[in-house]
Amino acid sequence: MEQEVPYHCVCIGQAEIDAVVATLKSGWLTMGPRTLEFEAELRKYVGAKHGISTNSATAALHLALKAIGLKAGDEVLVPTNTFIATAEVVTYFGAVPVLCDIEYDTHNIDTTKLVDRITTRTRAIIPVHFAGQPCDMDAITAIAKAHGLVVIEDAAHALPATYHGKLVGTLSDITCYSFYATKTLCAGEGGMAVTDNPVYAATMRVARMHGLNRDAWDRYSRHGAWHYDVIDQGYKYNTTDINAAIGLTQLGKLDWMQQRRAAIAAQYTREFTGVSGLVTPVVRPDRTSAWHLYVVKVPAAKRDRIIELLNEAHIGTSVHFIPVHHHTWYVNHYHYCYESYPVANQVYAQSISLPIWPDMTQDQIKYVIRTLTWALLQT
Ligand SMILES: *Cc1c(COP(=O)(O)O)cnc(C)c1O
Repeated sequence: MEQEVPYHCVCIGQAEIDAVVATLKSGWLTMGPRTLEFEAELRKYVGAKHGISTNSATAALHLALKAIGLKAGDEVLVPTNTFIATAEVVTYFGAVPVLCDIEYDTHNIDTTKLVDRITTRTRAIIPVHFAGQPCDMDAITAIAKAHGLVVIEDAAHALPATYHGKLVGTLSDITCYSFYATKTLCAGEGGMAVTDNPVYAATMRVARMHGLNRDAWDRYSRHGAWHYDVIDQGYKYNTTDINAAIGLTQLGKLDWMQQRRAAIAAQYTREFTGVSGLVTPVVRPDRTSAWHLYVVKVPAAKRDRIIELLNEAHIGTSVHFIPVHHHTWYVNHYHYCYESYPVANQVYAQSISLPIWPDMTQDQIKYVIRTLTWALLQT
């Protein structure tokens, strides 16, 4: 039976389409009532006091680092196994992303190696909840406390995920989500920073919109007035009501989408158990994963050929991530040493991300399982 399994398919239905059409018909397209509602609903969902929506998680992380007052020459600890945005935002300040190696089983930042990387210039840690599984937040919080560091979570993969029964979003100073097209809640593009700290929240809210003391919704809505003042240096990082309408609709089915992902992950793991040469993802018992990614490890020498065979069988895959210290600009600027991150190098060489999206059919899931098992025997 000929099958095709794309690496990702957005889970968009008539409800999202209707929400966008209603927004277009409302006449208010940019940040406005739907954005405010999305902020309120998402922060309520994760249990945070403030939510500041943005046009991306990258923007949210940038605003978070501005809120903590990051300065040129400061250092921020980030895992090397992440999307470049996590390190990139640090460079915006002339600060230095100090890379950390990861754990072999969870692919999360290795907290036992963090303290060695801390200097008098270290200001913050940005843990990345890889694939949707929270990092060891107890260890990270303890280290941050002991060394006076701020914790900003890159939760681009981790909506919704729990650590000791608490949702990611309530565990640290600031948490940043992504609503990029492939993420677990998709708004096309978008992001949000959530925090319980009113000073951080106010700084991020103002800097999101050019440093203005009032946003467009305030100024143009019925009770608005034309006057504004620029009270901080800022950026153009607002989202739109069109994106927020999609996000709001997705939030209503987030739990269902997460359950579908978790069920697919469980089926993969069950069926792959005992397949020689295949290492399935490990989720620690004290946490749950949002299952943004399902990453298997295969022998490094076989990895590229297996991806080719899957591709020839019309199964889309990806690799998460090419480590930060492999990228030309970062090596040239920060002189990262390739050998300093042995676990990340090994994980990168072995990893394949398999399709995991809510609308996958049983036939598609079984086809992936069958084809990968076959490809391992072929190589
Ligand atoms: C996707 C992603 C981001 C960036 O998200 P955007 O909304 O596209 O800016 C940041 N960090 C990680 C780990 C990601 O996967």
